[in-house]
Amino acid sequence: MQYNVAQLLKELVGATRSYELLADRDGAAGRVQLLRTDRGILVRGTVTTTWEGACNRCLAPMTLPLDLPIEEEFFPTVDVWTGAHLPPPDEAGALVIDQHHVLDLTECVRQYAVASEPIAPRCRPDCRGLCPQCGVNRNMVACACQASAADPRWEALSALRPRGGRSPETDTPHHVRRS
Ligand SMILES: [Zn+2]
Ligand SMILES: [Zn+2]
Repeated sequence: MQYNVAQLLKELVGATRSYELLADRDGAAGRVQLLRTDRGILVRGTVTTTWEGACNRCLAPMTLPLDLPIEEEFFPTVDVWTGAHLPPPDEAGALVIDQHHVLDLTECVRQYAVASEPIAPRCRPDCRGLCPQCGVNRNMVACACQASAADPRWEALSALRPRGGRSPETDTPHHVRRS
């Protein structure tokens, strides 16, 4: 996901280039447009990557496609005509084009992917999760705890139980009991 934008930087504000992203080894694919702005290059488009993680209920490894709508402006560090170094952009953490006029989207896409991680991924819509009592994967095995697990209080507890995913319920202090 690297583009040499030397030519585009020499063009007038409003000039564009479109790129098709072929699936790379991380599985990222999509289409981006690079637009010459008065300050640099604005990248817009959608990149599809693959999220790899675990089901929030049964912890089975799983993958999901992530569509990332990208919109970021990159700033040149070197004047494309003179080769002179340019002052760094004002914004902290601004994305930059390197001294060889290469715009690298890799880190940008990685950060978008992190920000778009699913909060409660399910391996399938009807995943039965782990048994709250004996811990077996109830998609695979019907354990002997089934009868008592049907008790609605168990269902409520299993819904609250942290499963490694980032769920707002994870922080609920459900171990605190009122006396
Ligand atoms: Zn599952
Ligand atoms: Zn069980």
